[in-house]
Formats: sequence, C-alpha cells, structure tokens
Amino acid sequence: MKEFALFIDGQWRGASDGRFFASINPATEEPWAQVAAAGPDDVEAAVTAARRAFDDGRWRKRSAAERAEVLSKVGALILERSDQLADYEVSDAGGTMRKANIADIPATAQTFQYYADLLGSLPEEELFDEQVPVPSQNVVRREPIGVCVGITPFNFPIAAASWKIAPAIAAGNSLIIKPSPYTPVTTLVLGEICHEAGVPPGVINVLAGPGAQLGEALVTHRAVDKVAFTGSTAVGKRIMELCAPQLKKLTLELGGKSPNLILDDANIDCAVRGALFGTFFHSGQVCESGTRVLVHAKIYDQFVEKLVATAKQIRVGDPRDFATTMGPLISQTQRESTERYVHAGREEGGRVATGGKRPADLPKGYFYEPTIFVDVKNDMRIAREEIFGPVVAIIKVADDDEAVRLANDSLYGLGGAVWSRDIARARKLAERIESGTVWINDYHLLNVRFPFGGYKQSGFGRELGPQGLAEFQQVKHIHIGEASDATDKQYLGLLFDD
Ligand code: NAD
Repeated sequence: MKEFALFIDGQWRGASDGRFFASINPATEEPWAQVAAAGPDDVEAAVTAARRAFDDGRWRKRSAAERAEVLSKVGALILERSDQLADYEVSDAGGTMRKANIADIPATAQTFQYYADLLGSLPEEELFDEQVPVPSQNVVRREPIGVCVGITPFNFPIAAASWKIAPAIAAGNSLIIKPSPYTPVTTLVLGEICHEAGVPPGVINVLAGPGAQLGEALVTHRAVDKVAFTGSTAVGKRIMELCAPQLKKLTLELGGKSPNLILDDANIDCAVRGALFGTFFHSGQVCESGTRVLVHAKIYDQFVEKLVATAKQIRVGDPRDFATTMGPLISQTQRESTERYVHAGREEGGRVATGGKRPADLPKGYFYEPTIFVDVKNDMRIAREEIFGPVVAIIKVADDDEAVRLANDSLYGLGGAVWSRDIARARKLAERIESGTVWINDYHLLNVRFPFGGYKQSGFGRELGPQGLAEFQQVKHIHIGEASDATDKQYLGLLFDD
C-alpha cells in the first residue's frame, strides 16, 4: 500500500497527530493508499506558511515573466509524470485510463501552460496596471488577494486542483488546497510538482483529511482572505454562511441539472452519441452533465430508439482496461443514492428503457449500468435534482419555446446544449438558455481559454480564461494628484473659505 503525507511549506510532512485515512479504489473496493489526515495543528501550519509567503512577497513580488516561467515548468513536469499521475488518478477516482490519459492529465498541464502564456502575453503594466490619463492621473491595479483556500470535489481531482492553483499563483497569491477525502493523492503530488518547478515554499500547501471538519477550519480561519469552492450546492450554501461573518471573498462552482435540446433538424446519429457522452462520461459524475434531454416530438421515437440501442455499446468495467469506456461510481454511498433516484423515477411514472441496475457481471466495485428514463416530466425528482450517477431523463417537447421554457425551469444553470443543423436557430436558443456554458452540436468541450461557471444555484464566479485569473485578484484605483498649493485644489473650498 502506498503512503502519502501532507504537503506544507515546501515539504512532505506527516499529520501532526500521526493519523492516516485510507483511499479506496472504487473499482475494487480495496484501500490502495494511506494518506495523512490533517488536523487543527496542520491547518495552522499551512495557513501560517501561506501567510508568511504572501506577506514577505517571495512570490507575488516576482515579475510576471518569472512567474510565467515557473507555471510553464509545472505544465512540463505534469506531462513528464503523466503515467504516474494517471495511475494514481484512476486508483483514487475510478475514472477510466482513457479519460486520465486523454483528458485529465493533458488538460491539467494545459491549464498551467495557459496561465503562463496569459502572463507572458502582455507587458506587466498592461497585465496588472491600467493607465487612465484624464482628467488627473489614475491607475487601476489588479493585485493578488492574499491567502486563498481551494476546496475541490472528487470527480475531476487533478484538473479541478489546477483550475484553482494555476490562476491563484499566476495572480501572486498563496494557496492552501483541500482535495476531496475520496481523491486526495494527485493533488498532493501536484503540490510537490509545483515545488519542483520553482514555486517557493508556503505558496502552495495541500491538506488532505476529513472533508467537513478540515474544510470548515480552513474556510473560517481569520488569516484566509478568499475561498474558491467547487462541490455540491448544499455544501456551497454552508460555505457561504461560514464566509459571511468575515465577508471573505468567495467563488462557488456548484451542481447542475443541465438541459440538452435535440431539435427536429438535428443530425440524429451525432446527437444520440453526443447526448450519451453528455450524460454517461465519467459515469455521470460531471457537474455540467446534460441529464435532461429535451427532444422535439417530431423525432422523439426515432431518437429514443437509437439512444437506447447505442447506450448498449458503452463498455462498463475495469477502468484500467483501455477498452473500458465507463468505470464505477466513486463510492457505495454514491451508488446507493443513484439507486434511490432510480426507484423514485419509477415511482413517479418514468420508464426505464435500459439499465436501472448494477451490472450482474461485476460483483466487485461500485458499478452501475447506464440508465435511460423515457417519458419523463420536468417536475419529477429525476428531472429536478442532481443525481451524479449514470442516469438520464428524456423529456418530449412540442417546439423550441417549450424546450427553452423547460430548460430554464430548474434551480440550476451550469451547462447545456442545442443540437441542430441550423446554427442560427440553435444560436438563438443558446442565448435564451440560463446557463454559464451552452454548446451547439457538442457536449462537455470545456476550453481553458473560456470561462466556466454557473447561473442561479450552480454558483457564481468563473474559472478558466482571463475571468478565472480575475477571480484571484482585487482591483485598486490609485489617484495621483499634483503636489501643488492648497489653493489650486478647488474642492477644498467645500470645507475651507480660503
Ligand atoms: P461535496 O460538496 O460533497 O464536496 C466538495 C468538497 O467540499 C470536498 O473537498 C469535501 O471534502 C468538502 N466539504 C464537504 N463538506 C464541507 C464543509 N462543511 N465545509 C467545507 N468543505 C466541505 O461534493 P462532491 O460530492 O465531492 O462533488 C460532487 C459535487 O460537486 C456535485 O454537486 C457537482 O455538480 C459539483 N461539481 C461542480 C463543479 C463546477 O464547476 N460547478 C465541478 C465539479 C463538481
């Protein structure tokens, strides 16, 4: 069994009280790693290290070009260690080796390279200072915020960590990052990689341990200036309450129940595959999954028939086998929650067209079959609540207006898509959908150069793109007045006669 310590102040360190917890491989149900469990003294050590590193300016005072060089090196080291990182990511999170090799690891490296390029793309004064010359000298500066805390979910451990670490340190902040207790390992290793690339001690600290206890200790710590959270809407609300007394800066990337509109002129074969990818990628454990498929009545029967037939081609099984396209769910708890939703869907009148059970040939591991519910109404629980398992609800709509009305009839607003051969028509509908990201004729294609985030209860703030950097900066206006006689300053007449 592998062992991992905490990464604090540029060093691997055991938990101060010597405790460990096990990371379970979701495909085997066996523990594969022992990980140090951070307690209150480790929180104190990490926050103190981050505060010291920020206050003495060892990182934030470096030029943008110097910071860019280090970020770029992080990206290169991730690619050098991609086999090890993919191996750990699959053991922790249960995603397929395909996903780790093709998506997670390269995308993580790309995030660091993107923010390196962004820092290098403009002269320093244009990147961080904006001169506004009239009527007096004014400067708008973008400054780092200070000590930031990043909290990440289990579904995309290393990529989610990179979405916080890369922009936070590009902007000059210090960061303590807390991965999900289900998936701590690759984030810990990323701490070491950043250190090897030249990020100074204390700028990045990684704490693994019991989620709520550790997360709340970090979020409420007085020396923490900003919290960047990705996770469920319920925990996001709790974190917002915890941040309120100190008015901490906060960004929330939360859950979703995203609509996927299939118009009557869609390329049906492509839309079928796209809808399945939109739902069953990573066993449905993706925040922007298109879990409500709204299909035009004219093509509904044909679409559903092809959807069900094509879903049978998804190969559920050992995630390490490159032939496998869908792995297990993260935990027994997540699988049981999925089962409860499937039960609720049946009770409320939905019809399971395929799936709806554990695969009989996979007795070990938290596997669940890709499950398609047809004849769903948008007010059923399976259409309103985030399941975070491989379950999709198919809803028939009469026309474009009904599709948009139902798409927007949700507490959430994270992702969504429109499938149509008529791009102008699809574009009009995309503009009417209340979501932070809408794809046309694609799904899940996130792009490091463009912002990602939620409308409504999917949260606020954006990650990726220049907007993702801005979330880790605060804005200062400096007014530069003339060092002239007081009589030249007419506004002083508001208080003085001469
Ligand atoms: P979760 O909310 O249970 O946990 C997220 C993180 O918060 C974990 O690190 C956990 O340990 C920590 N945590 C739990 N309770 C806490 C508390 N009281 N205080 C501080 N931290 C606490 O979510 P999860 O099950 O790990 O992930 C799935 C959820 O994340 C889904 O709802 C999904 O939609 C969402 N998600 C959103 C995005 C996005 O960008 N919008 C991306 C990925 C996942």
